[in-house]
Amino acid sequence: MVSSFLSRGCVAKEHDLASLHLRRDQSLPVVLSTEVTSADHEGYAEGVVTNTRFGSFPHSTMIGAAWGSQIRASKVDTGSRGRKEAMNAKAKAKKRKAEALEQSQSRSQSRSRTDTHAGDEDAVAAAAAEVEVEVASSGFVHILPPTPENWTISLPHRTQVVYTPDYSYILHRIRARPGSRLIEAGSGSGSFTHAAARAVFNAYSATSGVESVGKVFSFEFHAERHRRVKAEMVEHGLDTIVHTEHRDVYRDGFLVHEDEENRDRKTSPQANAIFLDLPAPWEAVPHLTREHQDGKPSALDPNSAVHLCTFSPCIEQAQKTVSSLRRHDWLEIEMVEMQQKRIEVRREYTGLSYDGMRGANAYAADVDEALVRLREVERRARDFHARTLSKRQQANGQRQQQQQQPDVGKLPFNGGKLVHRTEPELKTHTSYLVFAILPRAWTEEDEATARAKWSKHV
Ligand code: SAM
Repeated sequence: MVSSFLSRGCVAKEHDLASLHLRRDQSLPVVLSTEVTSADHEGYAEGVVTNTRFGSFPHSTMIGAAWGSQIRASKVDTGSRGRKEAMNAKAKAKKRKAEALEQSQSRSQSRSRTDTHAGDEDAVAAAAAEVEVEVASSGFVHILPPTPENWTISLPHRTQVVYTPDYSYILHRIRARPGSRLIEAGSGSGSFTHAAARAVFNAYSATSGVESVGKVFSFEFHAERHRRVKAEMVEHGLDTIVHTEHRDVYRDGFLVHEDEENRDRKTSPQANAIFLDLPAPWEAVPHLTREHQDGKPSALDPNSAVHLCTFSPCIEQAQKTVSSLRRHDWLEIEMVEMQQKRIEVRREYTGLSYDGMRGANAYAADVDEALVRLREVERRARDFHARTLSKRQQANGQRQQQQQQPDVGKLPFNGGKLVHRTEPELKTHTSYLVFAILPRAWTEEDEATARAKWSKHV
């Protein structure tokens, strides 16, 4: 069966992993189920219920919903235990509201009247709003399918993780694609692992029943983290694509025990893409060579170039990695600093209105109306600039005119004032990425074969 991370239907089904999108930067992973298996849900008439600060969501209301649907919170009969919880929440909230009020009053007594202002009222209002949110049953969530992106923002953090903006770029640069054989170390919280599994997954092989050759080999030396990532791969149906190993890669390198029955036999992952998110990547580089070491095979694919990326927070780490890569024949070594910033650019309207229309700020009713409005705005902008130009031309005389005349067709759209602001909160931590390539090994035999092929064509 193909993992729901890689292929899914249109609706959420029982036992599916879903991501409950609470707000832009907050999601909650849940396995949808109507069977009450945990004491947490006993006594709930609705079966399994996920409780959030936006209300209660019985799984029965989510199973069968199309992915992406908005799910409204339900009034849940949580039985006597639930009622007790709700009463406790209400009592706590009431106490917080009273405390906020008291603080506000004592502050306003110690200040002059004019000094007493919105700050205190805001505190009371915020406390009151919290009360309402906590006991609300009128909130909603969106139910989203599991994807590496959703998983990254909701996964249980065991370490620092690689976020989506970074791993998209890394996977692109190391040419991870269906069929790639990718080494990852360390597995950490499994954020990168999920994205890598999707990148190497061979959909054609999966649907045709032919075993996929794309594979991720994920190494981790921390026993508990290894155990968790291994279990997650099974739970998420990715264990046929991701092979996990408990290993200190600095000491023992990257050969794998793919055969669980025969733990003494280590084979080569034949990797052509490598990502090292380790404190000291330079210590792992000596294991990533073409030469066979101590009679053991190389971990690299002999028939293709290998693309590598290392992720380090400090420039000194990047320097040590670069120097180790040089010493081990890696080429095209390049460092990229990741500094992710999202800049929101929007147009603020200044109250233009259109004859017979509902005003510039109102949304267009349909695409046709939007096009009419856009053309109208463009026409006005062109007319405006043409008028300004002709006035300027008259004033400046013919010679100056020619020097100053911009291309009217390329004048900027002038429907409002452009404003921008940077968004401070985008989840990625600054990193230095070192990229390198190890060309494929080229033997005398390869040369002879190439020459033979070439001579056939001339
Ligand atoms: N890329 C991961 C993610 O996206 O979730 C996070 C990796 S975390 C920053 C680094 C991991 O490398 C840690 O879990 C650590 O235990 C592991 N590690 C450190 N040294 C190692 C070694 N010598 N061999 C294998 N794993 C190692």
